[in-house]
Amino acid sequence: MTDGIPAAPGTDTWFREGPDGFGFVLLAGRCTSCGALSFPPRPVPGCPDPGCDGLEQRPHPLSTTGTLWSYTDARYVPPPPYPRPPDTEFSPYALAAVELTAEQMIVLGQVAPDVPTSGLRVGMAMELVPGVLVSGEGVAERVWNWRPAA
Ligand SMILES: [Zn+2]
Repeated sequence: MTDGIPAAPGTDTWFREGPDGFGFVLLAGRCTSCGALSFPPRPVPGCPDPGCDGLEQRPHPLSTTGTLWSYTDARYVPPPPYPRPPDTEFSPYALAAVELTAEQMIVLGQVAPDVPTSGLRVGMAMELVPGVLVSGEGVAERVWNWRPAA
């Protein structure tokens, strides 16, 4: 990560990032036997297709654009044990479900914090961008965000 922000714990194999955020992409697991995709990548050997005996998966870059399939407006503070940075006010945020046409899959993610929910419409084009989440310990962690496509 070029800006020194580490991936959120447990997600370091879920995306890769080039210089200055160029080339930021989510990485699915792709079954080497049948090509089935899973995101996040499966943490244990095995194919997400119950009809496949494949055990190995390889990283597979997903499309970085898609269509807003659905979204929700999170206006309430999640209860513990949801981590929250100390001494901060809760800021409402939106969660997006974005359909990737080529992969025929839906990927969830937080909407970039500068995008108001009023600016979202089902069916609009969305793009993947690097995002930052602040942990319960106040540490910046790299995540992905969705935002309306430029
Ligand atoms: Zn398979």
